[in-house]
This record gives sequence, structure tokens and C-alpha cells, in this order.
Amino acid sequence: MARINDNFEKLPESYLFSTIARKVKEYKESNPEAALISLGIGDVTLPIVPTVITAMQAAVAEQGAVETFHGYGPEQGYDFLRDKIASHDYKDRGIDISADDIFISDGAKSDLGNIGDIFSTDSLVAVTNPVYPVYIDTNVMSGRAGNPLAEGGFERIELLPCVESNGFVPELPMRAPELIYLCYPNNPTGITISKDELKHWVDYALKNGSVILYDSAYEAYIRTKGVPHSIYEIDGAKECAVEFRSFSKTAGFTGLRCGYTVVPKELEGVDGKGHKVQLRKLWNRRQTTKFNGASFVIQRGAEAVFTPEGQKEIRKSIDYYMHNADLLREGMKSAGLKTFGGTDAPYVWVKTPYGLDSWKFFDELLSQAHLVCTPGSGFGSCGEGFVRLTAFNTLANTTKAVERIKKLKI
Ligand code: PLP
Repeated sequence: MARINDNFEKLPESYLFSTIARKVKEYKESNPEAALISLGIGDVTLPIVPTVITAMQAAVAEQGAVETFHGYGPEQGYDFLRDKIASHDYKDRGIDISADDIFISDGAKSDLGNIGDIFSTDSLVAVTNPVYPVYIDTNVMSGRAGNPLAEGGFERIELLPCVESNGFVPELPMRAPELIYLCYPNNPTGITISKDELKHWVDYALKNGSVILYDSAYEAYIRTKGVPHSIYEIDGAKECAVEFRSFSKTAGFTGLRCGYTVVPKELEGVDGKGHKVQLRKLWNRRQTTKFNGASFVIQRGAEAVFTPEGQKEIRKSIDYYMHNADLLREGMKSAGLKTFGGTDAPYVWVKTPYGLDSWKFFDELLSQAHLVCTPGSGFGSCGEGFVRLTAFNTLANTTKAVERIKKLKI
């Protein structure tokens, strides 16, 4: 029999969303009249904007005519999209990223999962706690995480606590990891990082030879002036950071699939003989071997996001969600609850009252207000005592949810 990759047996079972689904099902069965509202939705709900749809329709038509048909495209993505990203997302913000350092993909999750291919399986890793679980699980699969520890976590993954006392921005690691995953604006806490704090991390990475894997999937939700949209706003970041971006939350592409990863030419690692190697070269080799490029039609759609009309339309959708986030923050506050995040991210991190654990408060919200949230403990031990609310429901449902929140007896 073929032997399996034993690392898969080390993966922590994820009970979070299945437990939520079971609890909701049971509640509905015994309370069929309850009109439940989900504030746990982690997916966008507004449709793709008209300018993107029109561009994709034109691209579909091109695929139907022999003169304009496109087969395999460049694995790295079409220049028409890479150029737009380089100028709109970087040059216009005063950041010098060249188009050929940008790799288009079918979304940030794949790239965040695949990036491990280009690093040693012995590298020490640091991730935040709470965390987007993909960073941990993909390192477990490759064997880089080592064995699970009795107290939770893994031998070779340092968990960096993000708690109220540090403003949910972690302290620097103890073990000088080679790989550091940071995500800002953050899922699940909805917190952003300041330029000074990010500089601290870049300086640390440069000093210790670490690579920061910077997930800025929620960059488009930043409203506060001065909050960094890209790690490359920080001097020296091109020598120590890979940046992951996505059209999913920016332009509703969760079902279309498109994202991109920036691996600057300046960024180097070291091989077993001590020679320096450009990481961009390795990522290019990895992608050209294992990926055949994002769809032409979808890339034409993504390109349309950068037109003035496209920008106006996606902004409107983001403003819609962020208005929901404002309502949720204010609603929770007026119910006497402490909230974090939600000003520059579609997530509101709510501290449970009276030290209730996350699941207990989940049960209270469900039974008292018929609201479904996501228990923070599902994202790591430091998420205990918090729940995550998302801004992705409709305005009508969010408004109704807030009315119920205000009547909570806590
Ligand atoms: N990174 C974070 C922090 C996310 O929350 C998500 C999706 O929820 C992703 C990446 C995945 O993005 P994509 O849809 O581009 O794969």
C-alpha cells in the first residue's frame, strides 16, 4: 500500500464551523419560529460590480472567436493585470514594485499555502494567536511544524499572543524564526498595525534574516489615514517580505478566484551551501511547475477593478460593509460591551462580558438575540473570551441584529 504523508495525521481537527452549524441546527429545531441572523458570515454577499461583469462578458466573447481565443496564459499572469497592479496598488502610493515581481494566482489562500514549498522544511515559524488557520495547517502538512505539543500548538511554531494588553499586535518572537506570518488588517481581530509597529517588524526581520509573509487580503477596508496598506511602505521591506493580496474581499471575487503575491527581486534566502538565492526565482519555478495561470476571463475582470468606474463601484460595496461594521461596533458599545477592530476591517472583535468563555457567549447571543457569531477560541487560545462578528450580512439584517444586541440582558 502507498504510504501516506504522516504529517496529515498531526493536523488539528477543526470543529469550529461544524460545531456552530450543529448548534444552530439544534436551536432551530427546538425554536422553529426564531428568525436567526448570522453575524458569522466570512464571505462577501454583494454581487460582482457591473464594470467587472461587462469586462468578463467581453472576455468570454473573445474566447468564442478563433481570432481572439486565448489558451494557456503566462503562469505569472497577464501583463495587462500585473501592470495595473504595479501602478495602482503600488506606484500610485509611492511604492516602487515592478510588474514582474507580481505573480497572479487563483487567490491568496493558495499562495499562502504554497509559499512553504520554497523554504526549508526545517525553518522555524512564528504565527499570531489568534490566527487564520491556513498558516499553521500548511506548515503542519509539510512537516515544518514538527510534532504537536501536549499543551497545544507545535514544536516548531512559535505562537505570538495578540491580546488586549498589547493592542492585539504581537511582541517580537523569542526564537528568531525564519518565517513570520503577519496579517493586517487582521482576521479575526479586525485590528490594523501602525507604520511604526510594522517598521519594528521589518527591522527585526532584516536583523535576524527572517522573511515576513504579509497577508493584506483586507487592505481595501482601511479607512484611517496613515495605516499602512502594504508592508512595502516600510523601508527595507523589499529585502525581507513577501506580500499576499486578494480580489476576494476587495472586489467580491470569492467565487471567481483571483489574487496575487509580490516577491521582490531584492528578497533573498540562503541555500544549504551558504549561497544567497533570489526567492523570486524559486517562486517563479514553483509556479511554472505546479500552476498554469489564473483564467483569462477572471484576469480581465480583475483588470476592470482598476478602472475609475470599477473603483467607484467596489468602493460602494466596501462602504456598505463598513457601514454595517460601524453599526455593529456602536450596537455592541451601547449594550455595554467592549469592541476592537471593525474600523478598517470587516471584522469586529467583541470581548465577552463577565469573563464568559467564547462558546458560552455564543450560546447567550443565540438564545437571547437569535444571533450567530464566531467564537474567538476557534482561532487560537488567545481568542478565548472574544467573539468575532462580520459585516457581510445585509444592512437590513445588521440593523435588526443591532436592535436585538441593544436589548441584550448582560
Ligand atoms: N487571508 C485571510 C486572512 C483571509 O481571511 C482569507 C479569506 O477569508 C484569505 C487570505 C483567502 O483569500 P482568497 O479568497 O484570496 O483565497
